[in-house]
Parts: sequence; structure tokens; C-alpha cells
Amino acid sequence: MDERSYLDHAAGSPILPEVLDAMLPVLSLAGNPNSTHAAGRRARRLLEESREAIAERVGALPAELIFTAGGTESNNLAILGAVGDPARPRLAISTVEHASVAAVVERSAEVDRLPVDASGHLDVAAAEQLITSATALVSVIWVNNETGAIQPISAVAELAHRHGALFHADAVAALGHVEIGLAGSGADLISLSAHKVGGPVGIGALVVRRGVRLRPVGFGGGQEARLRSGTVPVALAVGFAAAVRLAVDHLEAEVERLRGLRDQLIAELARLPQVRINTVEPAGPAIVNATFSGTRADDLLLLLDGAGVEASTGSACSAGVHQPSEVLLAMGRSQDDASASLRFSFGPSTTSTDIERVVAVLPTALARARRALG
Ligand code: PMP
Repeated sequence: MDERSYLDHAAGSPILPEVLDAMLPVLSLAGNPNSTHAAGRRARRLLEESREAIAERVGALPAELIFTAGGTESNNLAILGAVGDPARPRLAISTVEHASVAAVVERSAEVDRLPVDASGHLDVAAAEQLITSATALVSVIWVNNETGAIQPISAVAELAHRHGALFHADAVAALGHVEIGLAGSGADLISLSAHKVGGPVGIGALVVRRGVRLRPVGFGGGQEARLRSGTVPVALAVGFAAAVRLAVDHLEAEVERLRGLRDQLIAELARLPQVRINTVEPAGPAIVNATFSGTRADDLLLLLDGAGVEASTGSACSAGVHQPSEVLLAMGRSQDDASASLRFSFGPSTTSTDIERVVAVLPTALARARRALG
């Protein structure tokens, strides 16, 4: 039995053996996919096969899939690429976006923030008031990476389109956990990242619906339909495709399995004193967020780590610095509660042994964390 429980898949899920097997032989191949010699053509073929495999599994055409360096770059490209029309100077984003959306909008446009309720779900009636004909793009996170909340993507897409705005969905935490269909969702732009689904770090994609015009934000060789210059790392693309195949082709069974683990953990946590569960349906199957009142999340994390449980305060991009979760503040929690919350996130390697370990070590860790705060 593994002595430690890694419950931070939402920050990064370990590379799957099948992914590694697919990538390893490609890493040592020569050939730039833009070269016309045989080695270049072989690299191009591997790249295009990877593009086709991923596109098919998110309901897109191969030409609609632009490889990027990851979720952050995809989000930046979606937003910065959509602004610039003087008739549409505004952007609308939810109050629970990942930093790669939240931090970029202020630099580029005037921003309207679409509120969420106490369960972290978008208030569609409030959004209706804030999205107007001055809005260039609406951006909403499909599955929240801190709480797991699934947002009403199609309803917001419809609102955006009613006013002639584009709609972007950050699906980084949704991939492998909900069905992602470009057509069915109504999205114009969808961000994906490989390392959240057992693929390699350093590659992602932006799905750009046919006919949607974006401006490039970086310049060079004009690769990826002139939207994202730079040589695409073919081995990473092959690994990304292998991970997406596994994640999407077994989606239904895996969602059911993960949901069972999630509900098991939620039921156990709810039994503990002064614990509030922040993951409320509709929610993805792989995230449990809870507030442990009277603790500091960082203390609790350290104690759990010492006991063999690796969890997170939420967005890894802001972890390491003690600050309340912006997502929980947006859900109306107090500063204290937003600083006393942890995320447990699951992936293919998670089993009920991991849940049992959390349940076994948590009471002692909680008591010590509460004593530390006095
Ligand atoms: N969006 C969401 C919802 C995420 O969880 C993350 C990763 N923390 C990102 C975007 C950024 O993805 P990447 O790490 O691939 O840049």
C-alpha cells in the first residue's frame, strides 16, 4: 500500500504510464513539424494525428484546435485575442475565475464581474444585467478548480451571443470530468491543459470555433493558424492526445467512480465538528472543498502533509502565500473562513484507501491546528 495519499490532482495529475509510453519514442525523433524533409513530415503527421484525436474528443474540427503551452496561455490568448474593437470595450468574467483569466482582464479592458451565489454557481439573472452590446467577450470557468462547481455554460453562451459577444469557457478543470462538446456548449473558445488529466506539463490548447477571429498576441513563424507562433513540441502533443483519449473514452465510468469517492469523503467530513462543505451540486466528481473553522489552512496542510496526505488550499498558483481564497470570498465567506479551507482533488490513482487515510488523520490534525490558532 502506498504510504502517502496524493490528493492534489487539480494542481497537477501525475503522468499516466500509457502517456509516457506514447511520448518516449517521439522525444528522441528528429524533425521540426514545419520542415518539408521526411523527418519533418513524420513530425507533422504525429502532430496532426494528435490534433485530430483531441479535437474529436471535444467535439471540434482539427483546424479548430490551436496548441499552446498550457491553460494559462490558452486563457490569455482567448482574452487578449478577443479585445480591440472600440465598439466593444468591455469584458465580462465571473468572480470565481482562475488567475490566468482574472489577472489578465484588467490589463486589457474595462471589466464587469458576474457574481456567484453561496454555492459558487453563477447568478444568471445578474449576468443578464451585466452583459451588453459593449461586451467583447464573456469568460466563465466551466468547472471551478477550487470548489468543483459546474457553471451553466450554455445559458451564459446564449446570453453572450444575444448581445453579439464571444463566449470563452476555461475547461481546464472540466476536461475528463464533464463532457466537453464545442457545438453543444455554445462556446466560441475553450481552454484545455494536458497536465490536469495525466498528460505532460507544458502543453494545452485553445479551441477556436470556425469563423471566430482572434488576434495573435505573440509573433514569429506564424504556426498554429498564425495564432500561436513557435515550434509545437510534438512529443508533448502526442502525450496530450494519449491523456485526452484515456480521459474522454472512459469518462462515464471514471466519473461514477470518482463521484463515489467524493461523496464518501464529503459524508465523512460533514460528520466532523465545525466543518462546512463548499462543494455543492452541480459539481465535478473530483474536487472536495471544505472549511475547517478555527484553523489556518496552511497549518492544517502542514499537519496533513506530515501525516501522509497531500492536499491544497485551492489554486496552486496562489498557494504558498497565506491569503484567503478569492473564490470563497466571492461566495460570501468571511476572511477567516476563506483562510481556513482546503481542497482535496482526485485523479486516476485515487482509491478509497486515500479517503480512509484522510478520514483517519484529520481529527488529530484538526485538533492540533485549532490549538495552534488558540
Ligand atoms: N484554469 C484552471 C481552471 C486551472 O485549474 C489551471 C491550473 N491551475 C489553469 C487554468 C492554468 O493551467 P496551466 O497550469 O496549464 O497553465
